[in-house]
Amino acid sequence: MIIFQEAEVLKNYLEGKRRHGQTVGFVPTMGALHEGHLALVNRSLAENDCTVVSIFVNPTQFNDPADFAKYPISTDRDIELLETGGCDILFLPSVAEIYPEGLVATSNYGLGDLEKLWEGFYRPGHFQGVCQVMDQLLQLVLPDHLYMGLKDYQQCMVVKRLLQLTGLGDRVELVPCPTLREADGLAMSSRNRRLTATARAMAPAIYSCLQEIKSELKPGPTHELMEQYRQRLVVKGFRLDYLALVDASTLKEVEIWNGEQLLVLLVAAFCEDVRLIDNLLC
Ligand code: AMP
Repeated sequence: MIIFQEAEVLKNYLEGKRRHGQTVGFVPTMGALHEGHLALVNRSLAENDCTVVSIFVNPTQFNDPADFAKYPISTDRDIELLETGGCDILFLPSVAEIYPEGLVATSNYGLGDLEKLWEGFYRPGHFQGVCQVMDQLLQLVLPDHLYMGLKDYQQCMVVKRLLQLTGLGDRVELVPCPTLREADGLAMSSRNRRLTATARAMAPAIYSCLQEIKSELKPGPTHELMEQYRQRLVVKGFRLDYLALVDASTLKEVEIWNGEQLLVLLVAAFCEDVRLIDNLLC
């Protein structure tokens, strides 16, 4: 695996690959890698000539400085995992490499409702930060395929919008990949490393709750069912940002389900002081 720290050097290298007709798959991450990330890498390795993984903990997407400060970092272990997994290229830039003009919000991407709802509402500025870094990374890597996890359902929608806004949608194909889970159902996440033993024991209740809602869901009003499960999570000790049943393509809340509309359950809950998100298509 070749490790690049400078954008310009990576860019030149990838241009050479493309000149030789090679396809490029890209997996952007913030490191602290787990099997969920590695599943994206494996998919890219299977579908492209050359796979690029980036590790960059992007400061502009953290609305909470404490969350940024506590974000887990394990670069040596990440390099080992990627090396063993057969990854071709790791891009490991510094903050100055990605933001040569400093950490200023230079762009305002037209995300519409996507940044007003759910994660957008509870993490103001988060998706602008995601777009800022993804815009840079995409212009640099110009991948044929971009692999992202459906664990971050709304983020996949935002990046799809970004591809349209930047005109890259014609050349970069977004490949949304399924969520990998621990044996007890907890969605794998770098943040899980911060869970205490008590919080770790409690955390799988988030996904069980989504599964139970899905199995109990019937056409008609949804409010009572959702309220019952919100309360259940609170009683179990979670602090909820949201638990919502929404239209899978608009993310608008669905209060009366016609039995046909494709839905997704979205949840963001604090387990002690660790904020976890998950979702389930219904
Ligand atoms: P992160 O490092 O958390 O920014 O995640 C990097 C990429 O990995 C994003 O596209 C995530 O959606 C994806 N990802 C994170 N956790 C999982 C998971 N449990 N299963 C599949 N993909 C994931």
